[in-house]
Order: sequence, then C-alpha cells, then structure tokens
Amino acid sequence: MAAHQEKKSEERKRKSTQNDTQTSQAQWGRAWEVDWFSLASILFLLMFAPFIVYYFIMSCDQYQCSLTDPVVDLLMGNKHLSDIWNKTPPLTYRAAGIYTLWVTFQVFLYVFIPDLCHKFLPGYVGGVQEGAVTPAGVVNKYEINGLQAWIITHLLWFANAYYFHWFSPTIIFDNWIPLLWCANILGYVVSTFAMIKGYLFPTNAKDCKFTGNFFYDYMMGIEFNPRIGKWFDFKLFFNGRPGIVAWTLINLSYAAKQQELYGQVTNSMILVNVLQGIYVLDFFWNEAWYLKTIDICHDHFGWYLGWGDCVWLPYTYTLQGLYLVYHPVQLCTANAMGILILGLIGYYIFRMTNHQKDLFRRTNGNCKIWGKKPEYIECSYMSVDGTKFYSKLMTSGFWGWARHFNYTGDLMGSLAYCLACGFEHILPYFYIIYMMILLTHRCLRDEHRCLSKYGKDWKRYTAAVPYRLLPGVF
Ligand code: NDP
Repeated sequence: MAAHQEKKSEERKRKSTQNDTQTSQAQWGRAWEVDWFSLASILFLLMFAPFIVYYFIMSCDQYQCSLTDPVVDLLMGNKHLSDIWNKTPPLTYRAAGIYTLWVTFQVFLYVFIPDLCHKFLPGYVGGVQEGAVTPAGVVNKYEINGLQAWIITHLLWFANAYYFHWFSPTIIFDNWIPLLWCANILGYVVSTFAMIKGYLFPTNAKDCKFTGNFFYDYMMGIEFNPRIGKWFDFKLFFNGRPGIVAWTLINLSYAAKQQELYGQVTNSMILVNVLQGIYVLDFFWNEAWYLKTIDICHDHFGWYLGWGDCVWLPYTYTLQGLYLVYHPVQLCTANAMGILILGLIGYYIFRMTNHQKDLFRRTNGNCKIWGKKPEYIECSYMSVDGTKFYSKLMTSGFWGWARHFNYTGDLMGSLAYCLACGFEHILPYFYIIYMMILLTHRCLRDEHRCLSKYGKDWKRYTAAVPYRLLPGVF
C-alpha cells in the first residue's frame, strides 16, 4: 500500500522536459473568462433560486403542491402577495434551536469522530484518504467518516422514534418553512465567509480563482478547497452532512407525517424512501470515490456549493416525499414494481459506470472491465507550474458506450422517484427536469474543462466515444 502510494506520488511529481502540449492546458480549472451567458445565468440563479425554493415549499403549504394555483389566485386578484407572505410561517426560536443543534452535531461527528467503519466493514474505504491533484499540484488529505456519521445519526433517529421519544419524528416536516429560513442564513453566511476567506486568508492561494467579476466569483467560488484547520474541508462537509445526511432524515419525517395524518404509509412513499435511501447510502459508502468527482476535483467553493448544499439540495431533492404527504398516492402493484425496477436499473448503471472509472483510475488501467483488459487513450496535461502529468481515458465498458453513461443511470433513477408520485401535479417532476438540465450542463462544462486540460488527447477521445449520454442520440 505504502509502496503503491509512493509510486503514485513519484508519478505525480515526474517533470517532463518536452513540452508538446498546448499552452492552454496549463490553465485548466482556472482563469475562466466570464461570458455574458454565464453571467446572465448566475445573476438569474442568485436572484431567483431562493425564490424558486420558497415558491415550491409555500405552494405545498398553502396550495396542496399546486404550482399554478398561487399564480391564478394572484392574477385573478383573489389574493395579494402580502396575503401569501403573511400566511408563511416565520423564523422561530424552536427552528433556530433545532437547526443549530443539527449542524453542530454534524460538525462534531465530522471533526471529532475518526472513522471506525473501515475497520470492520469489508470493502469500505474510510479514514484518511487522498483527493485528486489540484490545478496547483496540491494533493489534499480528507478524513472519510460520512458513513459513520450517517449511521450514528440514523440510529439516534430510530432510537428516538421507537424508544426515547425526545421529539416527534414529524419534527422536520412540522418546522419545514421555519427551517428553510435557518438553512438560508447558513447558506449565505458560509458562501460569504468563503468569499472573504478567499481574499484574506485562503487555504491554498495558488488554487484560488479570481475572474474579476464579483457575481461570478461569489457564485462559483474563489477558493478551490477552503478549509479551517487541517481537516475541516468545506466542500466535503457541506455537501455530505447538512445536505445528504439530511436527505434520508427528511424523507423519514415525511413518512412519519403520512402515518400520523392517514394512519398508514403509502407504497409510493416507501418507494421514494427506499430508492433515495439507496442513493444516499451509496454516496456515503463511496465517499472516498466522491473525492474524485467534479464537485471536489474541479468546482471552487462559492454560493453554488455553499447555498446549494444548505438549501437547494435538502429542499428540492426531497420534493417527492413532501408532495406525498399532501397527496398520499397508493400505486397498484404492477406500477410500483415497474418503478422499482426502473429505479434499480438506473442505480445499477450509475454505480457500475462510476465503479468502472474508479477501478480503472485506481489500478492505472491494470484491471478487468467486463472480463477484459480495458481499452484507453493515453493523455497528458500540465499544472500551473509547468509540471507535466499523465493520465488515461477509458474507452471500453460503459465508458465506451457514452462519455457520461453514469449520468444516464442517474437520470433513470431520478425519473423513478418522480413517477412514484403519479401524474396529478408537475411539482414532483421538478427533480427530473432539474437533473436533466444539471447533468446536461455538467456534460458541457466538464467537456470544456477536459478539452482545455487534455487538448488534442481529448479530441482523440471524443472521436473514439462520440456520444455523451445516449449512444446514437446525444
Ligand atoms: P464523472 O464521475 O463522470 O467525472 C468526470 C471526470 O472523469 C472528467 O472530468 C475526467 O476527469 C474523468 N473522465 C472523463 N472521462 C473519462 C474516461 N473515459 N476515463 C477515465 N476518466 C474519465 O462526473 P461527476 O463528478 O460530475 O459525477 C459523478 C457522479 O455523481 C455521476 O454519476 C453523477 O451522475 C453524480 N452526480 C449527482 C448529482 C446530484 O445532484 N444527484 C450532481 C452531480 C453529479 P479527469 O480530469 O480526472 O480526467
């Protein structure tokens, strides 16, 4: 293991005298020019994303999840904006207390409880792990203990629900709008702090990105891997803990609310809880792999991740469960089975595609994909200091079918969650619409970055694997 890591770090440090790569390759991951479209999109999101989240949650609270009724009411003059606003629950001391306790508890689990899961769970990779090489050539270390945090949090949740009864399991649903204000406060505080920190005391100054455009820098972030102290990594913490640990708890709270209101939990609610639960557990089981995904490897930490993890993720990814509290859909067995199968196939494709890349990269291509040695394209790139690195792009397995087949699996799973809610309202389908936009945009963003990173090698790769998401279509 030590020898393998030494070899890897030697490989990283290997400098090459020949410089056959385009100069732009040294610029990968930094020095973006802000075009008008990016700026317009950023301004739009900064202004409207918080409003969109509020609108969805308010429409459930006041209009049984109808997205059109509030607009009709306003246009017909039946209601004024002030009527809707006055009916909206305000920030409460209770919600502030719950939220503070929740975030503090997650910080405690993240910072003070080193991972034990990797000691007794075969195949699980936890404890101290290395991230990918940053554009400045830094390799960060991370304490991977998300699975442990998830298990402890959920054990406590069930212990409370079935034994201690400190609080009602419907607590999240019952305080959902007051908690929204708390999540927004944290999201804005964290993003603003990250921006100031990027200017005044960055963790790694060489990995900061200043475009000169305030809005772009605030949204997309300045610092690459902001940290407090040696271990508190903003990206890993905010995405995983207030974001993804909360996801399954929120769904459980919705299921508890259904039970309280209707005396039963519908099969659609169980489906949403199970399918999203698999996705969440998968994330934590593979948290070390997550260090190699775009969020950690390429995105800087700004409002997009800070506010997104605190507000957007917990509030929009859980819309299906929220909807099912207001509309308890009971699916016929055939439909429930069909949706379960779609969700599981989607998950299988998502996981296997990600696994194939991870295995391929970890073994440097010395592995078997579908029983055969993987095919690949050799490529090179340079960090800002001119160090040349080598890498490989796989062209077999699912990565030979399309350049982002993992996204295709993710989209199938996302569609399954939405279908579980039936066809009465559009709100539960927001997730699949959003994921299609997010992942298509991600394809383009990632490919733009890979082109500037690998130059002509990337072009050889796209010629070998011509489709992005669906072979023969896109
Ligand atoms: P990928 O895991 O697809 O990573 C893309 C990177 O992989 C590229 O930048 C490149 O990085 C490398 N790469 C690309 N092609 C190849 C290849 N052929 N062989 C080897 N390496 C290659 O993307 P993401 O990080 O965006 O996504 C990870 C997962 O997370 C996906 O399954 C996605 O669906 C999911 N996801 C879910 C979201 C959600 O909100 N639910 C949001 C975002 C992602 P390098 O520079 O190392 O070469």
